[in-house]
Amino acid sequence: MSEKKQFRAIKGTRDILPPDSALWNWFERKARDTFEAYGFRDVRTPIFEDTDLFARSVGTDTDIVSKEMFSFPDHSLWKLEGQRTQLLLRRPSLQDPLTVHVFRAYVDEFIVGADIALKEGDIPKTPDNERALEIIRTYSDRLVAHFMPTATPLDDPTLQLITQSIQQAAAALILGDIISLRPESTASVCRAYIEHGMHTLPGNVKLYYAGPMFRRERPQKGRYRQFYQMGAEVLGPSDAPGIDAEVIEMLMVLFRRVGLEKITLYLNSIGCKECRPKYVELLRAQLRNVKDQLGADSQRRIETNPLRVLDSKLPQDQPTIETLPRISDHLCEDCRTHFARLKEEFALRNITYEENWRLVRGLDYYTRTTFEVTAAGLGSQNAVCGGGRYDGLVELLGGPPTKGIGFAIGTDRAILSIQESGKSPHLPGLAVFVAWMGPKAYQAAVAIARKLRDCGLIVELPAEEMKFKKSLGLADKLGAKYALINGEDEVASGTYTLKRLANANQQKLAEPELLEYLESERRGA
Ligand code: AMP
Repeated sequence: MSEKKQFRAIKGTRDILPPDSALWNWFERKARDTFEAYGFRDVRTPIFEDTDLFARSVGTDTDIVSKEMFSFPDHSLWKLEGQRTQLLLRRPSLQDPLTVHVFRAYVDEFIVGADIALKEGDIPKTPDNERALEIIRTYSDRLVAHFMPTATPLDDPTLQLITQSIQQAAAALILGDIISLRPESTASVCRAYIEHGMHTLPGNVKLYYAGPMFRRERPQKGRYRQFYQMGAEVLGPSDAPGIDAEVIEMLMVLFRRVGLEKITLYLNSIGCKECRPKYVELLRAQLRNVKDQLGADSQRRIETNPLRVLDSKLPQDQPTIETLPRISDHLCEDCRTHFARLKEEFALRNITYEENWRLVRGLDYYTRTTFEVTAAGLGSQNAVCGGGRYDGLVELLGGPPTKGIGFAIGTDRAILSIQESGKSPHLPGLAVFVAWMGPKAYQAAVAIARKLRDCGLIVELPAEEMKFKKSLGLADKLGAKYALINGEDEVASGTYTLKRLANANQQKLAEPELLEYLESERRGA
């Protein structure tokens, strides 16, 4: 007998179930309302994109691109893929000559299929692909020679070498474009901005998004492989500090509206393409001097991405990092003015913040303003939002010169922090449970349930007849505020009995009074 498999959500992913899902919807509604009040409009981009889009924007030296993306080839060459699988599974041996014949047949078949696909442009004509096919062809010729009457037959080690070489090259052949599940959305929004010529729209383009992101991280509290972000981006010709300030004000207003009180806003400026490279070189030179005092990760980053050393949380690194040169002392005139004006804007808008010179953010595309918000109750993963300015990113992706700034809120963490604060909002639950008995009562129950739902009330109508005692018990378990009792007496008198379940108070009401009473209750609730 086959064992029954227990399916579970994949590691790092999770189900969001009621009642939590109601809190999620409430949070997302608040965010949408806030963003829309500031003139932002919803953009929905695909969940997967060309891998190269993320490699170019987020940066190849970042953790996200180098090890966290869920990537896969996108093609429809299923026949060729099947032939490749067959070829990879074979273990030819001279002990059993038939296995060598079969392997050779699969190799021939694969070469013919791959050649046609390459000629027709179905598989990318990259140097790597052409090299892989060349290797397969070369080793396949040696395999063919084995069967020639005049050639010296192969020995087993040579056959193994040929098999391995062919299989490795076949595995390396890229059958289609490599696509990735999005690890973040700024790159997608910029791609859409360029693709749809949005730079021709009047003023700055203000967009927001909500949805799942994917990173292959080690799961822990507040860190998932599928997580959710809500973010906003401003793209356009202007980089006025007032834009940065308004975006951050909007974020802080949202956090206030959802009751996230114990939060801290950290702010920094990481310069532009004029001053940052000089600072990075200075930092790298200084880091090389103190390399021995740093942990392995930081040591590696000295060469790959020295700014990331400032992100280090390793206790051993901290005293050394404190001695490093600070970007604020090395900003160019324009960046310094931009940062100073941003702080004036903050004063104007009563936004409190802490300056943090080590806030560089992990991604390559940031320039000037960077910010992060941390919240209470989250343990070590306490950042609920990160963002910054990314002038030049659109250009890097092939678009016109464009300024940009945006942020992404980690929705999972924002919700977690609201829950941990113990101040989750009271969300409307089941208002009325319609308890009915008898066919005539059912007819009336169906009609009144529809009317109450039209009034905006949440109503439960059991589809099967139940004794009143059982109905009321179920209504109680479901947390209904009222039971609306409709039995033979009520049908005869054209009324309903409305029972408040918390205190068992009940009153008999005709339909107009009932609707009026519940409608005023709903408005007051
Ligand atoms: P980032 O795109 O890395 O700047 O992240 C922005 C925000 O998304 C962070 O501040 C977190 O709140 C959230 N976030 C990032 N990665 C994860 C993850 N793996 N799981 C849950 N939330 C995340």
